[in-house]
Amino acid sequence: MTPNSLSRLSFALVFGALVGAVIGAVLAEPLVGAALGALVGTLISITVDTRRGLGLLDWLRGPQQAQAPRDQGFWGELAYRIERALRQKEQSIAQERERLAQFLAAIEASPNGVMLLDDSDQIEWCNTVAAQHFGLDPVRDRLQRVTNLVRSPLFVAFLQSGDFDEPVTVPGPLGHATLSLLVRPYGEGMKLLLSQDITERERAEAMRRDFVANVSHEIRTPLTVLSGFVETLAQLPLTEPERQRVLLLMGQQTGRMQALVGDLLMLAQLEGSPRPGADRWLMLTPLLQRALADAMALSAGRHTVVLRSTDDIELAGVEGELLSAVGNLLANAVRYTPEGGRIELGWARLDDGRGVIEVSDTGLGIAREHLPRLTERFYRVDGSRSRDTGGTGLGLSIVKHVVQRHGGEIDIQSELGKGSSFRLLLPALRVRAPALPISVRAEAAA
Ligand code: ADP
Repeated sequence: MTPNSLSRLSFALVFGALVGAVIGAVLAEPLVGAALGALVGTLISITVDTRRGLGLLDWLRGPQQAQAPRDQGFWGELAYRIERALRQKEQSIAQERERLAQFLAAIEASPNGVMLLDDSDQIEWCNTVAAQHFGLDPVRDRLQRVTNLVRSPLFVAFLQSGDFDEPVTVPGPLGHATLSLLVRPYGEGMKLLLSQDITERERAEAMRRDFVANVSHEIRTPLTVLSGFVETLAQLPLTEPERQRVLLLMGQQTGRMQALVGDLLMLAQLEGSPRPGADRWLMLTPLLQRALADAMALSAGRHTVVLRSTDDIELAGVEGELLSAVGNLLANAVRYTPEGGRIELGWARLDDGRGVIEVSDTGLGIAREHLPRLTERFYRVDGSRSRDTGGTGLGLSIVKHVVQRHGGEIDIQSELGKGSSFRLLLPALRVRAPALPISVRAEAAA
Protein backbone atom coordinates (compact mmCIF):
# COMPACT_ATOMS: atom_id res chain seq x y z
CA MET A 1 0.00 0.00 0.00
CA THR A 2 1.16 3.49 -0.78
CA PRO A 3 1.76 5.94 2.08
CA ASN A 4 -1.19 7.88 0.71
CA SER A 5 -3.58 4.91 1.03
CA LEU A 6 -2.16 4.01 4.45
CA SER A 7 -2.66 7.50 5.75
CA ARG A 8 -6.21 7.54 4.37
CA LEU A 9 -6.91 4.20 6.09
CA SER A 10 -5.38 5.40 9.37
CA PHE A 11 -7.31 8.64 9.12
CA ALA A 12 -10.56 6.67 8.57
CA LEU A 13 -9.65 4.42 11.47
CA VAL A 14 -8.74 7.27 13.90
CA PHE A 15 -11.58 9.53 12.77
CA GLY A 16 -14.07 6.62 13.01
CA ALA A 17 -12.73 5.74 16.49
CA LEU A 18 -13.03 9.37 17.68
CA VAL A 19 -16.57 9.81 16.35
CA GLY A 20 -17.47 6.36 17.80
CA ALA A 21 -15.92 7.35 21.18
CA VAL A 22 -17.93 10.61 21.31
CA ILE A 23 -21.13 8.78 20.44
CA GLY A 24 -20.17 5.95 22.91
CA ALA A 25 -19.53 8.56 25.67
CA VAL A 26 -23.03 9.85 25.20
CA LEU A 27 -24.27 6.26 25.51
CA ALA A 28 -21.78 5.62 28.46
CA GLU A 29 -19.75 3.09 26.30
CA PRO A 30 -16.87 5.15 24.89
CA LEU A 31 -14.59 2.11 24.20
CA VAL A 32 -17.22 0.10 22.37
CA GLY A 33 -18.18 3.26 20.48
CA ALA A 34 -14.52 3.90 19.52
CA ALA A 35 -14.07 0.27 18.32
CA LEU A 36 -17.30 0.36 16.30
CA GLY A 37 -16.42 3.78 14.92
CA ALA A 38 -12.95 2.54 13.86
CA LEU A 39 -14.53 -0.52 12.22
CA VAL A 40 -17.11 1.54 10.32
CA GLY A 41 -14.41 4.03 9.21
CA THR A 42 -12.17 1.18 7.96
CA LEU A 43 -15.11 -0.44 6.14
CA ILE A 44 -16.02 2.83 4.41
CA SER A 45 -12.38 3.35 3.38
CA ILE A 46 -12.11 -0.23 2.02
CA THR A 47 -15.44 0.14 0.17
CA VAL A 48 -14.27 3.36 -1.52
CA ASP A 49 -10.97 1.68 -2.53
CA THR A 50 -12.76 -1.42 -3.83
CA ARG A 51 -15.13 0.71 -5.89
CA ARG A 52 -12.16 2.58 -7.41
CA GLY A 53 -10.33 -0.68 -8.07
CA LEU A 54 -13.40 -2.11 -9.80
CA GLY A 55 -13.70 1.07 -11.90
CA LEU A 56 -10.13 0.62 -13.06
CA LEU A 57 -10.73 -3.10 -13.77
CA ASP A 58 -13.81 -2.18 -15.82
CA TRP A 59 -11.73 0.25 -17.88
CA LEU A 60 -8.99 -2.32 -18.40
CA ARG A 61 -11.53 -4.92 -19.57
CA GLY A 62 -12.87 -2.50 -22.15
CA PRO A 63 -11.14 -1.19 -25.30
CA GLN A 64 -9.37 1.53 -23.21
CA GLN A 65 -10.37 4.18 -25.68
CA ALA A 66 -11.89 6.52 -23.07
CA GLN A 67 -9.74 8.10 -20.42
CA ALA A 68 -8.83 5.88 -17.47
CA PRO A 69 -10.74 6.71 -14.18
CA ARG A 70 -9.14 9.79 -12.64
CA ASP A 71 -9.36 8.87 -8.92
CA GLN A 72 -7.18 10.13 -6.16
CA GLY A 73 -4.72 8.10 -4.21
CA PHE A 74 -3.44 4.60 -4.91
CA TRP A 75 -5.99 3.64 -7.58
CA GLY A 76 -5.79 6.98 -9.31
CA GLU A 77 -2.02 6.72 -9.63
CA LEU A 78 -2.24 3.08 -10.71
CA ALA A 79 -4.80 3.98 -13.39
CA TYR A 80 -2.69 6.92 -14.53
CA ARG A 81 0.50 4.80 -14.82
CA ILE A 82 -1.26 1.93 -16.58
CA GLU A 83 -2.89 4.33 -19.03
CA ARG A 84 0.40 6.12 -19.70
CA ALA A 85 2.20 2.80 -20.36
CA LEU A 86 -0.64 1.73 -22.65
CA ARG A 87 -0.64 5.02 -24.58
CA GLN A 88 3.16 4.85 -25.01
CA LYS A 89 2.86 1.29 -26.28
CA GLU A 90 0.08 2.32 -28.68
CA GLN A 91 2.17 5.22 -29.93
CA SER A 92 5.22 3.08 -30.54
CA ILE A 93 3.07 0.45 -32.33
CA ALA A 94 1.60 3.21 -34.52
CA GLN A 95 5.12 4.47 -35.29
CA GLU A 96 6.26 0.94 -36.12
CA ARG A 97 3.23 0.50 -38.37
CA GLU A 98 3.98 3.80 -40.08
CA ARG A 99 7.60 2.78 -40.61
CA LEU A 100 6.52 -0.62 -41.97
CA ALA A 101 4.02 1.06 -44.32
CA GLN A 102 6.75 3.42 -45.58
CA PHE A 103 9.15 0.52 -46.01
CA LEU A 104 6.58 -1.50 -47.95
CA ALA A 105 5.67 1.55 -50.03
CA ALA A 106 9.37 1.91 -50.92
CA ILE A 107 9.57 -1.75 -51.98
CA GLU A 108 6.28 -1.33 -53.79
CA ALA A 109 7.84 1.49 -55.80
CA SER A 110 10.69 -0.77 -56.90
CA PRO A 111 10.73 -1.50 -60.63
CA ASN A 112 11.61 -5.08 -59.72
CA GLY A 113 9.44 -7.79 -58.24
CA VAL A 114 10.01 -8.46 -54.53
CA MET A 115 8.51 -11.48 -52.76
CA LEU A 116 9.06 -12.64 -49.19
CA LEU A 117 8.73 -16.38 -48.68
CA ASP A 118 8.64 -18.20 -45.35
CA ASP A 119 10.50 -21.44 -44.60
CA SER A 120 7.87 -23.50 -46.47
CA ASP A 121 7.91 -21.19 -49.49
CA GLN A 122 4.60 -19.62 -48.54
CA ILE A 123 4.12 -16.07 -49.71
CA GLU A 124 4.47 -13.70 -46.76
CA TRP A 125 4.25 -10.60 -48.89
CA CYS A 126 4.84 -9.51 -52.46
CA ASN A 127 4.77 -6.21 -54.29
CA THR A 128 2.56 -5.46 -57.29
CA VAL A 129 5.41 -5.94 -59.77
CA ALA A 130 6.12 -9.46 -58.45
CA ALA A 131 2.39 -10.20 -58.57
CA GLN A 132 2.34 -9.12 -62.22
CA HIS A 133 5.46 -11.12 -63.06
CA PHE A 134 4.00 -14.32 -61.58
CA GLY A 135 0.31 -13.67 -62.26
CA LEU A 136 -0.56 -13.57 -58.54
CA ASP A 137 -2.97 -11.62 -56.39
CA PRO A 138 -0.93 -10.01 -53.57
CA VAL A 139 -3.84 -10.22 -51.09
CA ARG A 140 -5.68 -13.40 -52.08
CA ASP A 141 -2.54 -15.47 -52.53
CA ARG A 142 -0.90 -14.51 -49.22
CA LEU A 143 0.23 -17.54 -47.22
CA GLN A 144 -0.17 -19.79 -50.27
CA ARG A 145 2.79 -21.96 -51.23
CA VAL A 146 4.31 -20.18 -54.22
CA THR A 147 5.18 -23.43 -56.03
CA ASN A 148 1.46 -24.33 -55.97
CA LEU A 149 0.65 -21.14 -57.81
CA VAL A 150 3.66 -20.80 -60.11
CA ARG A 151 4.10 -24.24 -61.58
CA SER A 152 6.74 -23.54 -64.23
CA PRO A 153 9.16 -26.50 -63.86
CA LEU A 154 12.23 -24.27 -64.16
CA PHE A 155 10.96 -21.98 -61.42
CA VAL A 156 10.05 -24.84 -59.09
CA ALA A 157 13.38 -26.59 -59.69
CA PHE A 158 15.28 -23.36 -59.01
CA LEU A 159 13.45 -22.67 -55.76
CA GLN A 160 13.91 -26.21 -54.54
CA SER A 161 17.56 -26.49 -55.60
CA GLY A 162 18.81 -24.36 -52.71
CA ASP A 163 21.58 -23.09 -54.98
CA PHE A 164 21.01 -19.36 -55.09
CA ASP A 165 24.49 -18.05 -55.90
CA GLU A 166 23.64 -17.00 -59.45
CA PRO A 167 20.49 -15.45 -60.89
CA VAL A 168 18.54 -17.64 -63.29
CA THR A 169 16.54 -16.76 -66.37
CA VAL A 170 13.12 -18.36 -66.65
CA PRO A 171 10.19 -17.80 -68.99
CA GLY A 172 7.49 -15.79 -67.23
CA PRO A 173 4.60 -18.02 -66.14
CA LEU A 174 2.20 -15.91 -68.21
CA GLY A 175 4.13 -16.94 -71.30
CA HIS A 176 5.00 -13.57 -72.79
CA ALA A 177 7.97 -12.43 -70.76
CA THR A 178 11.43 -13.53 -69.71
CA LEU A 179 12.27 -13.11 -66.04
CA SER A 180 15.59 -13.00 -64.26
CA LEU A 181 15.24 -14.41 -60.72
CA LEU A 182 17.51 -13.92 -57.75
CA VAL A 183 16.99 -15.48 -54.32
CA ARG A 184 18.58 -14.21 -51.13
CA PRO A 185 18.00 -16.42 -48.06
CA TYR A 186 17.51 -14.60 -44.75
CA GLY A 187 16.32 -15.27 -41.20
CA GLU A 188 15.46 -18.89 -40.47
CA GLY A 189 14.76 -20.51 -43.84
CA MET A 190 13.10 -17.36 -45.22
CA LYS A 191 13.76 -16.22 -48.77
CA LEU A 192 13.74 -12.91 -50.55
CA LEU A 193 12.83 -13.55 -54.20
CA LEU A 194 13.69 -10.73 -56.59
CA SER A 195 12.37 -10.81 -60.14
CA GLN A 196 13.20 -8.59 -63.10
CA ASP A 197 11.50 -8.50 -66.49
CA ILE A 198 14.37 -8.80 -68.99
CA THR A 199 12.24 -9.38 -72.10
CA GLU A 200 13.37 -6.13 -73.72
CA ARG A 201 17.00 -6.71 -72.81
CA GLU A 202 16.89 -10.21 -74.26
CA ARG A 203 15.22 -8.92 -77.41
CA ALA A 204 17.84 -6.18 -77.81
CA GLU A 205 20.59 -8.74 -77.23
CA ALA A 206 19.08 -11.09 -79.84
CA MET A 207 18.81 -8.18 -82.27
CA ARG A 208 22.44 -7.26 -81.64
CA ARG A 209 23.52 -10.85 -82.29
CA ASP A 210 21.46 -10.98 -85.50
CA PHE A 211 22.88 -7.67 -86.56
CA VAL A 212 26.49 -8.75 -86.06
CA ALA A 213 25.77 -12.02 -87.88
CA ASN A 214 24.13 -10.13 -90.76
CA VAL A 215 26.93 -7.59 -91.07
CA SER A 216 29.54 -10.35 -91.05
CA HIS A 217 27.64 -12.22 -93.73
CA GLU A 218 27.15 -9.12 -95.89
CA ILE A 219 30.86 -8.28 -95.72
CA ARG A 220 32.11 -11.81 -96.12
CA THR A 221 30.28 -12.42 -99.40
CA PRO A 222 31.95 -9.64 -101.44
CA LEU A 223 35.24 -10.35 -99.67
CA THR A 224 35.12 -13.99 -100.78
CA VAL A 225 34.38 -12.91 -104.34
CA LEU A 226 37.19 -10.36 -104.22
CA SER A 227 39.76 -12.81 -102.90
CA GLY A 228 38.73 -15.26 -105.67
CA PHE A 229 39.41 -12.57 -108.26
CA VAL A 230 42.72 -11.66 -106.67
CA GLU A 231 43.76 -15.32 -106.95
CA THR A 232 42.60 -15.44 -110.56
CA LEU A 233 44.60 -12.33 -111.41
CA ALA A 234 47.66 -13.68 -109.64
CA GLN A 235 47.61 -17.20 -111.06
CA LEU A 236 46.01 -17.13 -114.50
CA PRO A 237 47.45 -15.48 -117.57
CA LEU A 238 44.39 -13.39 -118.61
CA THR A 239 43.82 -11.62 -121.87
CA GLU A 240 43.32 -7.85 -121.63
CA PRO A 241 39.50 -8.03 -122.08
CA GLU A 242 39.34 -10.76 -119.38
CA ARG A 243 41.48 -8.68 -117.05
CA GLN A 244 39.25 -5.66 -117.64
CA ARG A 245 36.15 -7.70 -116.83
CA VAL A 246 37.65 -9.09 -113.61
CA LEU A 247 38.64 -5.58 -112.54
CA LEU A 248 35.11 -4.34 -113.29
CA LEU A 249 33.60 -7.09 -111.14
CA MET A 250 36.11 -6.38 -108.39
CA GLY A 251 35.13 -2.73 -108.53
CA GLN A 252 31.45 -3.70 -108.13
CA GLN A 253 32.20 -5.79 -105.05
CA THR A 254 34.28 -3.02 -103.53
CA GLY A 255 31.47 -0.58 -104.22
CA ARG A 256 29.05 -2.93 -102.47
CA MET A 257 31.24 -3.05 -99.40
CA GLN A 258 31.67 0.71 -99.45
CA ALA A 259 27.90 1.20 -99.63
CA LEU A 260 27.42 -1.20 -96.75
CA VAL A 261 30.02 0.48 -94.57
CA GLY A 262 28.59 3.88 -95.47
CA ASP A 263 25.07 2.80 -94.43
CA LEU A 264 26.38 1.21 -91.24
CA LEU A 265 28.20 4.41 -90.31
CA MET A 266 25.07 6.42 -91.06
CA LEU A 267 23.01 4.16 -88.79
CA ALA A 268 25.61 4.34 -86.02
CA GLN A 269 25.65 8.12 -86.32
CA LEU A 270 21.85 8.31 -86.20
CA GLU A 271 21.72 6.11 -83.12
CA GLY A 272 24.55 7.86 -81.34
CA SER A 273 23.68 11.53 -81.81
CA PRO A 274 21.06 13.53 -79.92
CA ARG A 275 17.69 14.26 -81.50
CA PRO A 276 17.82 17.23 -83.86
CA GLY A 277 16.45 20.43 -82.33
CA ALA A 278 13.26 21.94 -83.71
CA ASP A 279 14.89 25.32 -84.35
CA ARG A 280 17.12 24.69 -87.39
CA TRP A 281 14.92 25.59 -90.34
CA LEU A 282 15.67 24.68 -93.93
CA MET A 283 13.85 25.19 -97.21
CA LEU A 284 12.42 21.92 -98.47
CA THR A 285 12.34 22.51 -102.25
CA PRO A 286 16.12 22.83 -102.81
CA LEU A 287 16.63 19.68 -100.73
CA LEU A 288 14.12 17.71 -102.76
CA GLN A 289 15.55 19.04 -106.01
CA ARG A 290 18.99 17.74 -105.06
CA ALA A 291 17.57 14.31 -104.21
CA LEU A 292 15.62 14.30 -107.46
CA ALA A 293 18.74 15.09 -109.51
CA ASP A 294 20.52 12.09 -107.92
CA ALA A 295 17.54 9.85 -108.67
CA MET A 296 17.46 10.97 -112.30
CA ALA A 297 21.15 10.20 -112.60
CA LEU A 298 20.54 6.74 -111.13
CA SER A 299 17.59 6.15 -113.45
CA ALA A 300 19.62 7.32 -116.46
CA GLY A 301 16.47 8.06 -118.42
CA ARG A 302 14.81 4.72 -117.82
CA HIS A 303 11.95 6.28 -115.81
CA THR A 304 9.86 9.38 -115.72
CA VAL A 305 10.90 11.17 -112.53
CA VAL A 306 8.86 14.21 -111.48
CA LEU A 307 8.62 16.69 -108.64
CA ARG A 308 4.94 17.26 -107.96
CA SER A 309 4.37 20.02 -105.41
CA THR A 310 4.32 23.77 -105.90
CA ASP A 311 4.67 26.15 -102.96
CA ASP A 312 7.59 25.76 -100.66
CA ILE A 313 7.62 24.95 -96.96
CA GLU A 314 10.29 25.10 -94.29
CA LEU A 315 11.23 22.13 -92.17
CA ALA A 316 13.06 22.04 -88.86
CA GLY A 317 15.64 19.30 -89.00
CA VAL A 318 19.05 18.11 -90.11
CA GLU A 319 19.52 18.63 -93.83
CA GLY A 320 21.97 15.73 -94.33
CA GLU A 321 19.65 13.27 -92.60
CA LEU A 322 16.53 14.36 -94.46
CA LEU A 323 18.42 14.28 -97.76
CA SER A 324 19.62 10.77 -97.00
CA ALA A 325 16.05 9.64 -96.15
CA VAL A 326 14.49 11.07 -99.32
CA GLY A 327 17.50 9.87 -101.35
CA ASN A 328 17.05 6.32 -100.08
CA LEU A 329 13.34 6.32 -100.95
CA LEU A 330 14.00 7.63 -104.43
CA ALA A 331 16.86 5.18 -105.02
CA ASN A 332 14.53 2.33 -104.00
CA ALA A 333 11.83 3.63 -106.33
CA VAL A 334 14.32 3.65 -109.20
CA ARG A 335 15.70 0.21 -108.33
CA TYR A 336 12.34 -1.50 -107.86
CA THR A 337 10.50 0.12 -110.81
CA PRO A 338 10.94 -1.49 -114.21
CA GLU A 339 12.00 0.63 -117.14
CA GLY A 340 9.30 3.01 -118.40
CA GLY A 341 7.75 3.41 -114.94
CA ARG A 342 6.87 6.68 -113.26
CA ILE A 343 8.34 8.01 -110.03
CA GLU A 344 6.87 11.00 -108.25
CA LEU A 345 8.26 13.08 -105.42
CA GLY A 346 5.98 15.52 -103.65
CA TRP A 347 5.16 17.17 -100.37
CA ALA A 348 2.09 18.60 -98.77
CA ARG A 349 0.81 20.06 -95.54
CA LEU A 350 -2.00 18.14 -93.87
CA ASP A 351 -5.00 19.85 -92.25
CA ASP A 352 -3.60 19.07 -88.80
CA GLY A 353 -0.40 21.00 -89.64
CA ARG A 354 1.82 17.98 -90.23
CA GLY A 355 4.09 17.88 -93.26
CA VAL A 356 4.27 14.92 -95.65
CA ILE A 357 7.05 14.05 -98.06
CA GLU A 358 5.91 11.35 -100.45
CA VAL A 359 7.79 9.15 -102.91
CA SER A 360 5.56 7.00 -105.09
CA ASP A 361 6.30 4.69 -107.97
CA THR A 362 4.55 2.43 -110.45
CA GLY A 363 7.02 -0.37 -109.76
CA LEU A 364 6.98 -3.97 -108.53
CA GLY A 365 5.03 -3.27 -105.35
CA ILE A 366 5.37 -5.26 -102.13
CA ALA A 367 3.14 -8.08 -100.86
CA ARG A 368 1.16 -7.15 -97.76
CA GLU A 369 2.85 -9.68 -95.46
CA HIS A 370 6.24 -8.01 -95.91
CA LEU A 371 5.11 -4.49 -95.03
CA PRO A 372 5.40 -4.69 -91.20
CA ARG A 373 9.03 -5.90 -91.37
CA LEU A 374 10.23 -3.75 -94.25
CA THR A 375 12.09 -1.20 -92.08
CA GLU A 376 14.02 -3.85 -90.13
CA ARG A 377 17.73 -3.89 -90.77
CA PHE A 378 18.71 -6.26 -93.59
CA TYR A 379 15.10 -7.23 -94.27
CA ARG A 380 14.69 -7.79 -98.01
CA VAL A 381 11.71 -9.01 -99.98
CA ASP A 382 13.90 -10.25 -102.80
CA GLY A 383 17.52 -10.61 -101.67
CA SER A 384 19.08 -11.12 -105.07
CA ARG A 385 17.28 -8.19 -106.70
CA SER A 386 18.28 -5.97 -103.78
CA ARG A 387 21.95 -6.95 -104.06
CA ASP A 388 22.01 -6.88 -107.85
CA THR A 389 20.80 -3.30 -107.81
CA GLY A 390 23.34 -2.27 -105.16
CA GLY A 391 21.06 -2.50 -102.11
CA THR A 392 22.47 -2.96 -98.62
CA GLY A 393 19.21 -3.90 -96.94
CA LEU A 394 19.65 -0.90 -94.62
CA GLY A 395 17.99 1.85 -96.66
CA LEU A 396 14.51 1.83 -95.14
CA SER A 397 15.92 1.29 -91.69
CA ILE A 398 17.90 4.54 -92.12
CA VAL A 399 14.76 6.29 -93.39
CA LYS A 400 12.76 5.14 -90.36
CA HIS A 401 15.48 6.28 -87.96
CA VAL A 402 15.71 9.70 -89.56
CA VAL A 403 11.99 10.32 -89.52
CA GLN A 404 11.60 9.05 -85.95
CA ARG A 405 14.45 11.27 -84.78
CA HIS A 406 12.49 14.17 -86.24
CA GLY A 407 9.43 13.12 -84.23
CA GLY A 408 7.62 11.70 -87.23
CA GLU A 409 6.68 8.35 -88.68
CA ILE A 410 6.83 6.44 -91.94
CA ASP A 411 3.73 5.18 -93.70
CA ILE A 412 4.04 2.57 -96.45
CA GLN A 413 1.29 1.66 -98.89
CA SER A 414 1.96 -0.85 -101.63
CA GLU A 415 0.22 -3.19 -104.00
CA LEU A 416 1.99 -6.05 -105.68
CA GLY A 417 2.47 -5.37 -109.38
CA LYS A 418 1.05 -1.84 -109.15
CA GLY A 419 3.52 0.23 -107.18
CA SER A 420 4.31 1.70 -103.80
CA SER A 421 4.01 4.93 -101.87
CA PHE A 422 6.31 5.84 -99.01
CA ARG A 423 5.18 8.82 -96.90
CA LEU A 424 7.28 10.57 -94.30
CA LEU A 425 4.97 12.33 -91.82
CA LEU A 426 6.62 15.13 -89.86
CA PRO A 427 5.07 16.78 -86.80
CA ALA A 428 3.43 20.20 -87.12
CA LEU A 429 6.01 21.90 -84.90
CA ARG A 430 8.69 21.12 -87.49
CA VAL A 431 6.74 22.53 -90.43
CA ARG A 432 6.03 26.15 -91.30
CA ALA A 433 5.33 28.38 -94.26
CA PRO A 434 8.48 30.16 -95.50
CA ALA A 435 9.26 33.43 -93.75
CA LEU A 436 9.56 35.20 -97.14
CA PRO A 437 7.66 34.43 -100.37
CA ILE A 438 9.85 32.80 -103.05
CA SER A 439 9.96 35.90 -105.31
CA VAL A 440 11.13 38.18 -102.46
CA ARG A 441 13.75 35.61 -101.47
CA ALA A 442 15.05 35.46 -105.05
CA GLU A 443 15.38 39.25 -105.08
CA ALA A 444 17.14 39.21 -101.72
CA ALA A 445 19.55 36.57 -102.98
CA ALA A 446 20.28 38.61 -106.11
P1 ADP B 1 17.51 -2.63 -99.99
O1 ADP B 1 18.87 -2.13 -99.91
O2 ADP B 1 17.38 -4.10 -100.06
O3 ADP B 1 16.69 -1.90 -101.00
P2 ADP B 1 15.81 -1.29 -98.10
O4 ADP B 1 15.83 -1.28 -96.63
O5 ADP B 1 15.93 0.02 -98.80
O6 ADP B 1 16.91 -2.31 -98.55
O7 ADP B 1 14.46 -1.95 -98.56
C1 ADP B 1 14.05 -3.16 -97.97
C2 ADP B 1 13.25 -3.98 -98.97
O8 ADP B 1 12.03 -3.32 -99.26
C3 ADP B 1 13.94 -4.11 -100.30
O9 ADP B 1 14.81 -5.22 -100.31
C4 ADP B 1 12.80 -4.28 -101.27
O10 ADP B 1 12.45 -5.63 -101.33
C5 ADP B 1 11.65 -3.53 -100.61
N1 ADP B 1 11.42 -2.22 -101.23
C6 ADP B 1 11.88 -1.02 -100.80
N2 ADP B 1 11.45 -0.02 -101.57
C7 ADP B 1 10.68 -0.58 -102.51
C8 ADP B 1 9.93 -0.06 -103.62
N3 ADP B 1 9.87 1.25 -103.90
N4 ADP B 1 9.24 -0.93 -104.38
C9 ADP B 1 9.28 -2.25 -104.11
N5 ADP B 1 9.96 -2.81 -103.08
C10 ADP B 1 10.66 -1.98 -102.29
